[in-house]
Amino acid sequence: MLKIPSQILEAIIARSQEGFPLEVCGILSGVDGLVLGHHPMTNMDASNEHFTMDPKEQFAVVKELRRKGWDMVAIYHSHPESPARPSEEDIRLALTPHVSHLIVSLMDREAPVAKSFKITDGVVEPEEMVVTE
Ligand SMILES: [Zn+2]
Repeated sequence: MLKIPSQILEAIIARSQEGFPLEVCGILSGVDGLVLGHHPMTNMDASNEHFTMDPKEQFAVVKELRRKGWDMVAIYHSHPESPARPSEEDIRLALTPHVSHLIVSLMDREAPVAKSFKITDGVVEPEEMVVTE
């Protein structure tokens, strides 16, 4: 289960809208599936259908989390033109089974949809997402 404060989810959706028509991506950190921190990452692909996080930014976050004793809880990215489910490429590139994959779909820009998944060895499982105050 992914527990995410409403203001962080809103910030992710706002960033997805700002980045449109390109995909945006980032890291969510915290403890035991509870999101505490939001780390926006640069999408080095600058693409509307895939993303690569900047390795330098990613390394800086990993270092910061190690210092705080927090985990990487989720990786998020937006789907400007496709549904909120992992693409073939997302599944192929999901190499960290314990991390949640949060996807924001802007297919209907008036009504963005955010969904979370666990991806283990190519198998996608929807994950319950609880939005907290
Ligand atoms: Zn994707």
